[in-house]
Amino acid sequence: MPDVDLNMPIQFVPGVGPARAQAFATLGVRTVEDLLHHYPFRYETFPRSVPIGHLEIDRTATVIGTIRSVRSRRNGRHPSLTADVVDGTGRMSVRWFNADYLANRLHAGQIIRMTGKVDVRRDLAQFVNPRFDIIEDDADPLADDVDRLVPVYPATAVVNTKTIARIIAGLLGRVTTLVTEILPDPLRERHNLPPRATAVARIHQPITPDDARIARRRLAYDELLLLQLAVQAVRHHRRTAGCARPISVSAVVDQRIRKRFPFPLTPGQDAAVKEITADLSATQPMNRLLQGDVGCGKTAVALYAALAAIASRRQVTLLAPTELLARQHHRNMCAYLDGSRVNIQRLVGADSAAHRSGVLTAAATGDLDLLIGTHALLERDITYNSLGLVIIDEQHKFGVAQRAAARHKGITPHVLVMTATPIPRTLAMTFFGDLDITTIRDAPPGRHPVRTRRVRTEQLHDAWSFLRERLDAGEQAYIVYPLVEESDALPLKALTTEYETLRVGPLRDYNVALVHGRTASAEKESVMNAFRDGGVRVLLSTTVIEVGVDVPNATVMIVEHAERFGLAQLHQLRGRIGRGCTQAYCLLVSDAESGYAAQRLDVMTRSSDGFDIAEADLRLRGPGELLGIRQHGLPRFKAADLLDDFDLLTTARDDAARTSARDPALALTEHQAMRAELRARYGQLIPFVDVG
Ligand code: ADP
Ligand code: MG
Repeated sequence: MPDVDLNMPIQFVPGVGPARAQAFATLGVRTVEDLLHHYPFRYETFPRSVPIGHLEIDRTATVIGTIRSVRSRRNGRHPSLTADVVDGTGRMSVRWFNADYLANRLHAGQIIRMTGKVDVRRDLAQFVNPRFDIIEDDADPLADDVDRLVPVYPATAVVNTKTIARIIAGLLGRVTTLVTEILPDPLRERHNLPPRATAVARIHQPITPDDARIARRRLAYDELLLLQLAVQAVRHHRRTAGCARPISVSAVVDQRIRKRFPFPLTPGQDAAVKEITADLSATQPMNRLLQGDVGCGKTAVALYAALAAIASRRQVTLLAPTELLARQHHRNMCAYLDGSRVNIQRLVGADSAAHRSGVLTAAATGDLDLLIGTHALLERDITYNSLGLVIIDEQHKFGVAQRAAARHKGITPHVLVMTATPIPRTLAMTFFGDLDITTIRDAPPGRHPVRTRRVRTEQLHDAWSFLRERLDAGEQAYIVYPLVEESDALPLKALTTEYETLRVGPLRDYNVALVHGRTASAEKESVMNAFRDGGVRVLLSTTVIEVGVDVPNATVMIVEHAERFGLAQLHQLRGRIGRGCTQAYCLLVSDAESGYAAQRLDVMTRSSDGFDIAEADLRLRGPGELLGIRQHGLPRFKAADLLDDFDLLTTARDDAARTSARDPALALTEHQAMRAELRARYGQLIPFVDVG
């Protein structure tokens, strides 16, 4: 074999060539290194052979015998090929269905090795469609007769799993020179892990299932450890690079802020406030995620933080995902701060140029204390006199916030991100590991969980009469319609038709209004105002109401085509109701009987706890899909599985924390290999790796 190194394009690996290299590329395999880490996703068991006379029914077994005759049967609906096979202990029959192409390959006199499940036909042991190979004339039939595990790889039509196995097997002779150890010995020994090269060899060619398990565990540990080291590096970088102005909250200020709320904070809100004020008082910028179920009162906590910053003469910006929510935040903040001297401004896309330039000037001179807008403001270069705190509502893209914060060079503002999509523990530790997380687990007093039911389309008339009852009792309702793409003309038409049908049909006695993604923003605002004031009783909408809209008198939500929504989205939607003291109801309209869609709806009817739902979501969809993690640009795990490897993840996190505490820049000799691997994998993401 020519000299191979890890970075060599696989085209030059024996047995590959340009065509297969292209097929490999579709599997994400481009270099020798990729190939070595292209792991099997399962193994097929081929047991060592047993004599025909010893076969046990219903067992998977291997037989090595001589073909005595082959017959092909072409008539009937299921053409088949039957062979008689004998060994010294007995005779069995073997049938292949729809396998005309085998007729030329099988002949009396050949020695065949077959693996299959044993059944019985006419008192004779039988295999149906067994895996087999013909043993060459001059080969020893018992040469490889051992229990074998055959790897099954992610493959394509051009390179099948057998070919991949053969190509990789060809490389494994070099595995000890190609794969270098990255773990310091003490770490490897502490967890009883095999050397990295051994693990790579064994994951491709295990002798026993235990080999495969141990190899995978080692490689999974490496992936998790490297990720955790990356997380530690980012944290370390932030601790040392950013410099914030501390904001301290005196008892007097604390009292003054609390007087702004028409209610006492819940214990959960209090605990959150404590953590946030502790962060704010440091010179290291806060980077905190505030998570809590919809309606738990995150906004009040955010306002507390904002007022604390403003009391220290810092400016604050509060950013929402949509204009609708920016307007709502603005309205709420103005209400809370009525009669105070805090200067609040709002900046959204629809504002006039004159308004915008006024706001920008105020931000620059320091006349403005609190600027409320959409996330789009993050991307804009706004000059602040003294920006002290950035609050981002309902946003998972922390990177954006950090980059924006970094633009205000010199003094870095504190960053608080709020989300109502709870992050399961595993994800919090992995993909969001560089954030500090505060979780509010309680809710303001007097809340009842929403009652959720599934409704089939044939029962819709019952749903409408139930809805009319609630409306007659003075309550209000949302009807939500899925719209995958706001630009999708077809569903939009369906939505408009639905609106017309309801208006002249089941809901003719009530004022119904319609908003969707293409509704002009002024009209949207006036409809929302009318809904909030109670003039509009039923709001028919697409998911524009998804996050944050707060109308406590709305107690019913009917979700049409509920199967088209994801779990997180359904949970968000449902959070729009049950915000007052009246019992609220959510009706999920769907005819889905099975599959993920039905399972999601079951989860929704069973649970109202956002954390349960997030865990269920993780199980149903896998971590890659959840929260759009792929967009974070992190490499995907090949060996580790976040659901199954939780213990390993915890171990890796602790090891990474210890390693980084002792040697934050990974400068020690024993950490060099680890550092190189870290740089290869996470180089673009980690500032410190680029430094040395
Ligand atoms: P979130 O943003 O977490 O979904 P909000 O901050 O919008 O929740 O609060 C939901 C509702 O609960 C609001 O109407 C708010 O006025 C009310 N609320 C918040 N905190 C409390 C509290 N401690 N006691 C009573 N009501 C509260
Ligand atoms: Mg909110």
